[in-house]
Amino acid sequence: MIRSTPRIEALPATTPFIGPEALARRAGIVDDSLLRLGANESSFGASPMVYEALTRELPRLAFYGDPELYVLREALGAALGCSRNEIVVASGIDDLLGLFIRAYVGDGGVALATSGTYPTFFYHLNAYGARCETVEYSGTRPDLDGLAAALNKHRPALLYLANPDNPGGGFHGRVALECLLDTVPAETLVLLDEAYAEFAPEHDLLPLQMRPNLVRLRTFSKAYGLAGMRIGYAIADMPVIATLEKIRQHFGVTRPAAVAALAALQDSAFVDSVVVEVDRGREEYYRMATELGLSTYPSFTNFVLFECSNVKRATALVQEMLALGVFIRKPGPGPLASCIRITVGTAAERVRLGSALVQCRKHGLPS
Ligand SMILES: *Cc1c(COP(=O)(O)O)cnc(C)c1O
Repeated sequence: MIRSTPRIEALPATTPFIGPEALARRAGIVDDSLLRLGANESSFGASPMVYEALTRELPRLAFYGDPELYVLREALGAALGCSRNEIVVASGIDDLLGLFIRAYVGDGGVALATSGTYPTFFYHLNAYGARCETVEYSGTRPDLDGLAAALNKHRPALLYLANPDNPGGGFHGRVALECLLDTVPAETLVLLDEAYAEFAPEHDLLPLQMRPNLVRLRTFSKAYGLAGMRIGYAIADMPVIATLEKIRQHFGVTRPAAVAALAALQDSAFVDSVVVEVDRGREEYYRMATELGLSTYPSFTNFVLFECSNVKRATALVQEMLALGVFIRKPGPGPLASCIRITVGTAAERVRLGSALVQCRKHGLPS
């Protein structure tokens, strides 16, 4: 019998996410009518400039992309006000999380994160044989004081912090973050996952100021509407970027993904319009929840957490919504397990969502 390494053999046969395709198959939905509001994909698509650029690129699909992603890194550097040598591009933040864990934590190493935050981080930690110390949420936000105390106690190789957070949706402003960063031991690398940065108040984002042990993770998957393209990047001090360059898969970012990202970057008006529409949709969700007798938590992302008061009710609601052709999710075990998480859809999608939720309530869910 062929055996994998003991480390891999010991892993449970799980993936962090069951995709909407699998859920639709289970629910017997064979067309593409499933309303996808469970994975924080953008309902607003990408800039028209992206589609034009991709169309122009199609005849060149036989070519590999530029392994240095030079043009894209130049454009990102210009947009962000840093050097292209302070940027590494990869197949999304998910890819980068694995690379950073491999490079900086490794087998037997220790990381620190909020219990119940973005599951892919823990998924990679397990696969690389690293251990994780955790701190509980404070409400729906990571507990920065708790993390600071745990940093001091455990001296982890890596701290993971999603800001704005998923699934909590909460946000910490720059003053609070700077305070935390000032207490981080020099030997701890901080991974600041800013997948939802575009939806947060711009003036309150941490300024782009390099620290030797700080990494900012950004993506084209959310506000830019390119989740299917798989492209994201990290901004960090040059030695950190150079380390990632040693292990990155050099053709892992596809040629069309790089072209799409470059075009998306040039249409900031489009992203601004998405952010405005998501703001409006979030407000509508808050009102919708009130009408349904549910509470919500303030969100700085493209999704809203609805409080269902208990895990059973939240689980039942997710199932019932799927039976009605609507894909939503609930956070995994932990303090947010009694919530459901719903991505902000277009105005038309919000109408469909609202009537599905009303229908669920008629069935006594939630009571
Ligand atoms: C969606 C999400 C990601 C995934 O980003 P990709 O660039 O698509 O891999 C990473 N982190 C958080 C917190 C997310 O919500």
